[in-house]
Amino acid sequence: MNFAKKLHVRPGQHLRLADLDAGDTLGFEKGAEAKKLTEKTIERLDKLQYLMYAQNRHSLLIILQGMDAAGKDGTIRHVMSGVNPQGCSVTAFKVPNHEESQHDFLWRAHKACPGLGDIGIFNRSQYEDVLVVRVHKLVPRAAWEARYDQINKFESILAENNTVILKFFLHISKEEQKKRFEARIEDPKRNWKASPSDFQERPYWNEYQRAYEDALSRCSPKHAPWFVIPSNHKWFRNLAVSRIIVETLEDLHLKFPKPAFDLRKIKIK
Ligand code: ADP
Repeated sequence: MNFAKKLHVRPGQHLRLADLDAGDTLGFEKGAEAKKLTEKTIERLDKLQYLMYAQNRHSLLIILQGMDAAGKDGTIRHVMSGVNPQGCSVTAFKVPNHEESQHDFLWRAHKACPGLGDIGIFNRSQYEDVLVVRVHKLVPRAAWEARYDQINKFESILAENNTVILKFFLHISKEEQKKRFEARIEDPKRNWKASPSDFQERPYWNEYQRAYEDALSRCSPKHAPWFVIPSNHKWFRNLAVSRIIVETLEDLHLKFPKPAFDLRKIKIK
């Protein structure tokens, strides 16, 4: 099965997140078979990253977005577990600091983009500027409205300069978020994850879903697609995200570069 084809958002496609089942598993069942497939995919990802690094021709930018507790951290931990840390960076986008807030909203994103041969992962991203900023009216409407187009232009520049862009929306249901928040309160191993801001944002669930629907529909061109990943089941989320990354890298037909000089002329004494 081609996961990318199944889960991508077509350019301009209008979607209602409430109509998409966050518990979907595309017919896969939890168990040894799915686990094996995920493991094999993550092993393959490690090999492809090595090739990409050696070839030094493309960068891969992976953007992770989702409601609080959707599993952004867990996805990074599981999917990237096999990847060589040399050649991979993770950037978490928080409330802009003073320096960041003195620049245009794309400045900090651009600075964090991966160089050739590298994978860059954004835990949250430039999309916060049309999500939290829109929901909480942190700038006037005209300012955030203009940003969809600005983000599209920014991502076009990256793509035209050999950055492959994959954007994952980790889709969970409101009930699943409740369960995960409860676990954060009850499970001592998860207490540290509980944050007052999570609970403050939950009443804005519908506003966030609307803001996500607009971002997904307005910013999913072919060269920077969004994928809606049903994420109520963590095992399926990890399978789907890793498969899409591997499918995309396979399509690049990566090859080890030829040596820049004639190796036969080298004599090692
Ligand atoms: P996380 O929830 O990602 O693990 P935090 O609890 O530190 O990490 O949350 C980061 C917070 O920063 C989120 O509430 C997010 O909405 C906020 N944030 C990110 N970017 C912006 C931005 N451009 N403007 C305002 N808030 C932002």
